[in-house]
Amino acid sequence: MKAMVLKKIAPVEEEPLELEDLSTPQPDAGQIRIKISMCGVCHTELDEIEGRLQPRLPIVLGHEIVGNVESLGYGSNKFKLGDRVGIAWINSACGRCCFCRNGNENLCSEFQGTGCDANGGYAQYTVVSEDFAYPIPDKVSDSQAAPLLCAGAIGYRALRLTNLQDGQILGLFGFGASAHIVIQVAKYKYPNCKVFVFTRPGQIEHQNLAKILGADWVGATGENAPEKLNCAIDFTPAWKPIVEALRALEKGGRLVINAIRKENKDKDNLLNMDYHTHLWLEKELKTVANITRKDAEEFLPLAAEIPIVPEVQEFKLEQANEALILLKQGKIRGAGILKMPE
Ligand SMILES: [Zn+2]
Ligand SMILES: [Zn+2]
Repeated sequence: MKAMVLKKIAPVEEEPLELEDLSTPQPDAGQIRIKISMCGVCHTELDEIEGRLQPRLPIVLGHEIVGNVESLGYGSNKFKLGDRVGIAWINSACGRCCFCRNGNENLCSEFQGTGCDANGGYAQYTVVSEDFAYPIPDKVSDSQAAPLLCAGAIGYRALRLTNLQDGQILGLFGFGASAHIVIQVAKYKYPNCKVFVFTRPGQIEHQNLAKILGADWVGATGENAPEKLNCAIDFTPAWKPIVEALRALEKGGRLVINAIRKENKDKDNLLNMDYHTHLWLEKELKTVANITRKDAEEFLPLAAEIPIVPEVQEFKLEQANEALILLKQGKIRGAGILKMPE
């Protein structure tokens, strides 16, 4: 099979992914083999390529995988041949520890990431345990399903963790791939809630999209919104939005940080934190890490029902380096998708 393989950590501008012919993987007991049609391109892959995350090497990247079940391992019976399925960031977890037993498999110490600890979707085929593949609803096309599996599912988890109730006010800090899905889910599930969106100053395109998608107020991080926030999600790689979101919270409010890492450059903002302004009166702070199977299983049918239709830009598998460079430069409109050769 054709695959784009990462063998060494390097700046993405050096085009480190190489097109290779690999032997097609065989499904073990309980696994399925998927003939991949599309795989999304994600910021996390930039972190893997450039060494901010530590992938197993060599590795086939990609964790927004859509395709059809093509072969069943011994004992696999959840899917039929030909079924359309997706694979997300969670590739496996131990299934035995206290986190796994309580449905928090995203926190399992043996958590394996797709395209990080196990080969992913920048290839024509992949294998995965049938328990970690999800049916794709008929209404959703292959290319539209791909971004739902990462930006969508983790955004859904973050929204769940806020404990937002209908009629309350939700603040979103940063308005990229995940946030623009979250606002649609929030407005659908909680029709009487208000959503206030905070971006960097001058991000007019993001601000306009937020308005189109129903934001009740849009401004720059640090500005005062018309009302206090019952909960907020921070999608940014910066520190300032954490401080500003905590300041903007209502009493008893909760901030959920949806970021795999934070850049160090504006860390000084934390020194401006004041106990009374930012934390007192039972404010809460929580981060979101990975996703569980339940997040993906619940979110995909919901996304089809709303419906959420992500904007996508298609590339060929062998253009993966190019797509990743454009992603780094912020030049992809919507979500980047790799289309596999037949
Ligand atoms: Zn991702
Ligand atoms: Zn576990």
